[in-house]
Amino acid sequence: MTSASPASDLRVDFQCNLCGGECLGVSRADLLREGASCPRCGSCVRFRTLVHGLSLALLGESLVLDEFPRRRDLHGIGMSDDPSYAKPLRKKLGYRNTFYHRRPRFDVTQPVGRDRFDFVISSDVFEHVAPPVEQAFRNLFQVLKPGGICVFSVPYRLEGETAEHYPELCDYSVTHEGDDWVLRNRTADGREQEFRDLIFHGGPGETLELRRFTLPDLRRRFEAAGFTSVDVVPNEPRFGLIDLDPRSQTLIVRRP
Ligand SMILES: [Zn+2]
Repeated sequence: MTSASPASDLRVDFQCNLCGGECLGVSRADLLREGASCPRCGSCVRFRTLVHGLSLALLGESLVLDEFPRRRDLHGIGMSDDPSYAKPLRKKLGYRNTFYHRRPRFDVTQPVGRDRFDFVISSDVFEHVAPPVEQAFRNLFQVLKPGGICVFSVPYRLEGETAEHYPELCDYSVTHEGDDWVLRNRTADGREQEFRDLIFHGGPGETLELRRFTLPDLRRRFEAAGFTSVDVVPNEPRFGLIDLDPRSQTLIVRRP
């Protein structure tokens, strides 16, 4: 009698929807949100889910990037998108990547310009933008055309209220002291604050987590900003998108 293999031992075959490569015999345990699981281009589940969600919402079907129709009339921006999908998107759509620290710049907390887009990709950005984060949700709504969509991801909890780690963040710096990273903040009314036990994404000293959202709170914030639909991007075994972590699934939000 043989015992059933644990799910982590199972191997799956799929096609990478970024590079188009056939990924054969990939361990299910390696299908991680951030870990490379396409042996050819190194794409992770998060990147493949973003493209899967974008394709479904924008084109009505989930296509490999290379199969995207050439649609320069579809205008969109990314917010520090990874080059693995940003470059192919640029060849197919009226898309450009933007950055917080360099040109072409886009800061979702600042008043929006005149450009309006059919789509915006915002992946793991909103947990890092300066408070009050409500402004970022309103601006996201503003930069979309009516009917426009945002492909949105952040890590979140499934219940409760969003934890705003530094609600009074105003004039602040993050410095490395000994083995510790320290956040010093001067509040709007001039009080000095100091925080340790900081949470960084992308490694120590990288991007500071300012809040941890919850799914119910995200839905409320999108609604408050004017969005009418918030849909979770579904699994797609064809692209190695199975058993997606319910605490960080990609969302499609649509401006009515
Ligand atoms: Zn790939």
